[in-house]
Amino acid sequence: MTPMSATAREPVTPPAWQTELARGFRRPAELLEALALDPGLLPAAEAGHRDFPVRVPRGFVRRMRPGDPNDPLLRQVLPLAAEQTEAPDFGADPVGDLAAQQAPGVLHKYHGRALLVATGACAINCRYCFRRHFPYGDAHAARDAWQPALAYLRHQSGLREVILSGGDPLTLPDRRLGPLAGELAAIPHLVRLRVHSRLPVVLPERVDDELLAWLAGTRLQPVMVLHANHANELDGEVASACRRLREAGVQLLNQAVLLRGINDTADAQSELSERLFTLGVLPYYLHQLDRVAGATHFLVPEDEARELAAALAARLPGYLVPQLMREDAGAPAKTPLTTARHG
Ligand SMILES: *Cc1c(COP(=O)(O)O)cnc(C)c1O
Ligand code: SF4
Repeated sequence: MTPMSATAREPVTPPAWQTELARGFRRPAELLEALALDPGLLPAAEAGHRDFPVRVPRGFVRRMRPGDPNDPLLRQVLPLAAEQTEAPDFGADPVGDLAAQQAPGVLHKYHGRALLVATGACAINCRYCFRRHFPYGDAHAARDAWQPALAYLRHQSGLREVILSGGDPLTLPDRRLGPLAGELAAIPHLVRLRVHSRLPVVLPERVDDELLAWLAGTRLQPVMVLHANHANELDGEVASACRRLREAGVQLLNQAVLLRGINDTADAQSELSERLFTLGVLPYYLHQLDRVAGATHFLVPEDEARELAAALAARLPGYLVPQLMREDAGAPAKTPLTTARHG
C-alpha cells in the first residue's frame, strides 16, 4: 500500500462545492425568511416538509424573486397545501422502476443503454420528484456497491451507453466517480457515458477541475443531460459551468418536466429553449409529469401538453423544440406524445 501516493491521496479540505451543498436551506422557515415571504405559508410548508424535506442550495434561492410566492423556481421547492391532495392514479412508483432492476442499481429497460442508479442523494428536493416516496439516503454509495452492477454491464455485450443517474450522481465525490468512469471505460462494448444531473444548474460550483478531469479523460464519449425547467434557473454561473463542460468535450442536452404554473406556456418554454441554446445546451426531452402522490397540482393534462408542443413547433426552429415524452411502465422506450396519438 502507498497511502500517500499522489493519485490516491484524499483532499485535505473538501472541495468548495461540498461546502456549498452542506450550506443549503433545509427548513421551510429559512426559505420564507430569505425571500421575505408571508409567514402564513409556513404551516402548509411544514406539513409537506414532514413528508419530503425541504432542501435547496442557496445559489438557487438567489435566482428567485423576493416577495413573490409564485416565483417559478420557488414553486419547485416550496411545499404547498395542495401536496396533501390525494388522487387515485397518483401513487408511489408510477413508472415501475422498483420491479425493473436487473442487478442492484441497474435499470436496463431500453435497447443499447442501461441506467445506473449511482446514488439516491440529491442537492435539491423538487416537490414533483418520485424520490419523495423513497427515503434513499446515501446507502447506495457504499464502497463496493457497484461491483454486481459492473459485472452485469460487462456481460451485456449489446450495450453501447451507460447512464449515471440517481438521485443525482454528481452528489458523489470525484474520487469515487473517476474510478467508476475508469471501470466503465474498460468495458469494450461501451462507447458513450451519459450523466443525468441537475447539479450544474442548481449548484454550478460542482463543475470544478476534478469533475472536468475525468469527464475529459475518459475514452468514452461524454454526454450530460441537465435538468432545468425555467429560463430563470440559468444565470451567469450556470453559463460558465456549461462553457467549461463544453470545453472539456461534453455534449450538453437538457430535460425538463412540464409543470403547471411554472413552465406551461409557449412563452416560458421558448425562453427556456432560447436561453439553453445561448449556453450551448440543446433541449432534449420535455417530460409529462410522473404521477407521484403529492404532485397532483403540477399536472398539465396531455391534450394541453400536445397543444403546447404544437405551439412551440410553430414558433421555434426544430432544434429548439424538446420532444414531449411520457414514460409508460413496461414500454420499450419513452413514448413521444407528438407522434403517437391514441384517440
Ligand atoms: C429514460 C431512461 C433511459 C434513457 O432514455 P433515452 O430515451 O435514451 O434518453 C434509459 N433507461 C431508463 C430506465 C430510463 O428511464
Ligand atoms: S434533481 Fe431530479 S432526482 Fe433530484 S429531486 Fe429534483 S427531480 Fe428529483
